[in-house]
Amino acid sequence: MTYPVPRPGVMEIEPYVGGKSSVAGAARVIKLSSNEGALGPSRRAMEAYASQAASLHRYPDGSASALREAIARRFGLDPARIVCGAGSDELIALLVKAYAGPGDEVLYSQYGFVMYPLSAHAAGATPVKAPETGFRTDVDAMLAKAGPRTRICFVANPNNPTGSYITAAELRRLREGLPAHTLLAVDAAYAEYVTRNDYGAGLELVEARDDVVMLRTFSKIFALGGLRLGWAYAPAGVADVLNRVRGPFNVSSAAQAAGVAALEDVAFADAARAHNDAWLPWFAGQLAALGLASLPSVGNFVLVRFPPGARDAAAATAHLARDGIIPRPVANYGLPDWIRFTIGTEEEMRAVVASLSAFMEA
Ligand SMILES: *Cc1c(COP(=O)(O)O)cnc(C)c1O
Repeated sequence: MTYPVPRPGVMEIEPYVGGKSSVAGAARVIKLSSNEGALGPSRRAMEAYASQAASLHRYPDGSASALREAIARRFGLDPARIVCGAGSDELIALLVKAYAGPGDEVLYSQYGFVMYPLSAHAAGATPVKAPETGFRTDVDAMLAKAGPRTRICFVANPNNPTGSYITAAELRRLREGLPAHTLLAVDAAYAEYVTRNDYGAGLELVEARDDVVMLRTFSKIFALGGLRLGWAYAPAGVADVLNRVRGPFNVSSAAQAAGVAALEDVAFADAARAHNDAWLPWFAGQLAALGLASLPSVGNFVLVRFPPGARDAAAATAHLARDGIIPRPVANYGLPDWIRFTIGTEEEMRAVVASLSAFMEA
């Protein structure tokens, strides 16, 4: 028997491996592998989700109007230019599918989010990586790799897994240097966590130009990863394209209802940000005291270095697993000496530090 052959590129996909959620033998698990919100979902979002139960036989509003209105109100945007998706992952895949195919290139940076090359392969396009400098997107390196075949350029800002960001001025310089035929997609999944005043999520560029799209998600600060909900803010012509290629009911009614409630619960998002502002620097300080180097991060996660030797990343992962702690190894990003930790609750972060301190003293 031989299998039917899929389109070119499909078999080059390395299937996405999500963060683990269990450890054999561990009674209590501390899951810090997927950058999920530390505080769990907002109570109001949970209630809105539950309120949909009796009408689950109804199809969702295919245009997600109430949700787009709520996003527009919260961020001061034009609802007609918002497109919602089943997670921003879906929107990444749809953008690639709509704009790139065989013979085209999808540009991203060296440690950029893994969904970009994965989606490029799925569309039969060629992923092209530009080297980073100091674990940050290097605008000049990106521009040097851009050419006549570059259909989309993705920048995760802040980037996952590095936690670094480029400034609004650098983002503008990138856009201005890219070819006119290249769509710049700014993936601002962690925008709500960033408190630096030279940062911009890309909104100004979307407003000013026809060739920039910004992606956002409800999976991180809004802590609704299980519902799959993301959105794009796009120029009218790009929103039109996304609306043509998306499924007519791509966002469930429960996700739409919970999303509206999560947006309206401003105090919840503020509390989640305040929690991160307190525990991310605390964790980085504890790591430094243990002699562990970490990258400065503006997201809700930290990349920590475990140099080759007796206390390398594999040994650390195994040690943490024995304490029921699951961070995210990132060898698939070409970062075998690093482990990414999501900022969890106070109790979880104290448990991680206790485990790491035993590991470093052993
Ligand atoms: C988590 C993450 C997303 C995906 O979010 P979903 O909305 O859950 O699909 C997108 N981009 C980056 C950089 C992320 O880290």
